[in-house]
Amino acid sequence: MSARCDRCGKDAFYHRAYSGETLCRKCFAGSIEDKAKRTIDKYGMLRHGDRIGVAVSGGKDSLSLLKILARVTEGHGSKLFALTIDEGIEGYRAESLKYASDVALDLGVEHLVFSYKELFGFTLDEFLKDRRVKLTSCAICGTFRRRAIDIAAAKGGATVLATGHNLDDMVQTFLINLLNGDLKRIPWLNSSRGPSDGFRVRRVHPFLEIYEKEIALYAFGEGTPLQTIPCPYMDEGIRSSVRGYLNGMEEKHPGMKYSLLRSALELSEKLVVDQPIAGTCSRCRYPSTSDPCSVCALLDAIKPVSV
Ligand code: SF4
Ligand code: ZN
Repeated sequence: MSARCDRCGKDAFYHRAYSGETLCRKCFAGSIEDKAKRTIDKYGMLRHGDRIGVAVSGGKDSLSLLKILARVTEGHGSKLFALTIDEGIEGYRAESLKYASDVALDLGVEHLVFSYKELFGFTLDEFLKDRRVKLTSCAICGTFRRRAIDIAAAKGGATVLATGHNLDDMVQTFLINLLNGDLKRIPWLNSSRGPSDGFRVRRVHPFLEIYEKEIALYAFGEGTPLQTIPCPYMDEGIRSSVRGYLNGMEEKHPGMKYSLLRSALELSEKLVVDQPIAGTCSRCRYPSTSDPCSVCALLDAIKPVSV
């Protein structure tokens, strides 16, 4: 006899190893939406009247987040808009940009797109072609993306910025910070304790307590388009080792990632945050511990060839 949903008795779609629950497709989707809603309430992520910017890369996590937030915020008194950063990566970004636009249009959500070209004067392709810095592609791209998102959120008038980071992303980042001896970043995992320097909008992660594979399954069940083309510059470094290690642990000990998240959040409450950042970049006026800031330093590296 085939397995049945524990909630409604219909055909089973998913067995949740860490809770022992078996669910049909509909009850599984409902459980993900409920979990996101409960997480938003539990951590006080959204406030009445918020203008919520949703960072939408066009991947499964961010598209699912946009769909769920559109439902959650209906009649909530909050306004939603999607923002996408176009790094300028030939043959890669166009696909996900289209998915982001299609889903936003379908939901009737305003969609703003900001490109590295318009914000910094060049595409990532152009910058990496003549790279003179030793950082990895993703480290360079990430430095620009964080700034681009800050600018985009401010231009869009966001009072809060929601990202599709899930439980796996969060515990990987936690472990990477520990392995790198970078304790000062740990409080940032907790949205109420991120940097508050007046330049960055508060970040929230409604999928904080949801496993990556469950978001992927939710996206699949919802018919969300999945990106087929990988980024040609992908260079995850330590993250792929940490991901493999955590997946192996979770397989043997279901629920372990969730326990690790609890430890991360508890630790983030206990650590002293040294903020606000006292310094300011003399070029762009952004808060920074170095002068020029990391963005301006990267821009300097390309200047001689860009005219
Ligand atoms: Fe940027 Fe790396 Fe992501 Fe490509 S994989 S978009 S280079 S951060
Ligand atoms: Zn600067």
